[in-house]
Amino acid sequence: MSLTIGVLKESSPHEHRVALDPEVTKRLVKKGLQILVEASAGEDANFFDNDYESAGAKVVDRNAVIEQSNIVVMIDNPDEQTRSQFKSGQLILGLLNSLTVTDEMTEFAKNKVNVLSFDLLPRTISRAQTMDVLSSQSSVAGYKAAVIASDLYPKYFPMMITAAGTIKPAKVLVLGTGVAGLQAIGTAKRLGAIVSGYDIRPASRGEVESLGATFLTSSVSNGAGSGGYARQLTDEEQEAQHKELAEFIAQNDIVITTAQVPGHKPPLMVTEDSVQNSKPGTVFVDLGASDLGGNVAGSKPFETVVTDNHVTIVGAGDLASRVANSSSQLFAKNVQAVINYVIEDDQIQIDPTDDVLTGLAAVYDGEIINARLRKALDLPELPKPEEPAEDSETKEES
Ligand code: NAD
Repeated sequence: MSLTIGVLKESSPHEHRVALDPEVTKRLVKKGLQILVEASAGEDANFFDNDYESAGAKVVDRNAVIEQSNIVVMIDNPDEQTRSQFKSGQLILGLLNSLTVTDEMTEFAKNKVNVLSFDLLPRTISRAQTMDVLSSQSSVAGYKAAVIASDLYPKYFPMMITAAGTIKPAKVLVLGTGVAGLQAIGTAKRLGAIVSGYDIRPASRGEVESLGATFLTSSVSNGAGSGGYARQLTDEEQEAQHKELAEFIAQNDIVITTAQVPGHKPPLMVTEDSVQNSKPGTVFVDLGASDLGGNVAGSKPFETVVTDNHVTIVGAGDLASRVANSSSQLFAKNVQAVINYVIEDDQIQIDPTDDVLTGLAAVYDGEIINARLRKALDLPELPKPEEPAEDSETKEES
């Protein structure tokens, strides 16, 4: 019997994406998989039930999706009710923030629910790149950050020379120049602004400059951590950073912040004083804004706040969701890549010697198997499996 993939409707009112779109659904059906889609799961992203049915899926209610699927796919963490319905041996796949909701992962392990969480994907392994949800969604968010800023900024972005006079171009500063930051820089440049970028990973200088933006050198001598990510700064380094950033921020009209450190709350980069000292009309777009805090003092998740000194702060942790159709299409392609990777001969195969899978898997067979997650939970390292990896570097996606 063929395997069944279930697609859930997201439970958060702020989440408009869906984990599979009709196009990828069609491809998976062609591959011999059965697809169950929860009714109206794609509606917010402009994918309708009849689109999924035309693609060969069955549209059913939520309970049927959970009850009948071998693999359940989703964007964000499932709510408590849904978590309690998953069954032993079922596989769930989504952007599950496993390093911050470690208690949910422990609960899945207890219930023997297998979990693949995109936030754990080892992104520097080349064969994992088609699965890289963090990159696909950050890229959409970075683009939207620049577009939202240009909409809220009460002046032109480009320089305008008109018969009525000349308008100076906007100055945009991007703090944190990973995937989202670089996309924000590229978009702000295309809109005609003068753009600079700032990061504590020295490697990002070349990437910023290659987009034609200025790189602002940080006083933090080397902020690179492991896996290409930034490390958490010490209190002294953070204080020095706030001082140097205060000057940079005051010289700009738009500040887009994207800084993240995996497993930690987003670092505060724009202090209350910096907001107070900003020119009227300045716009901050905080991609780090979440319940854990954000990069900008006073930012509120999902809200746009205007301060007494006429500064606008957008709490923008949900920007990929605000471009729901395109981001769902990309997310679905990432899901397809994982499904193709884990299904062999009509079976789900999680090879314990494959570093893409042991990276992506949070929980397998009742055990927390991911090394980063084990560390976050203070669990001892697992012994390495003895079997040598079969030539997994050449494993192809179909
Ligand atoms: P991220 O979302 O974790 O963080 C965003 C940016 O914020 C990063 O550039 C980080 O250095 C920066 N940052 C964090 N704390 C900061 C602070 N206190 N001050 C200033 N900047 C701070 O990053 P990301 O976009 O997911 O990218 C992380 C890394 O992964 C990058 O090196 C990127 O090039 C790399 N990456 C590699 C691949 C690949 O090899 N295929 C794919 C995607 C990303």
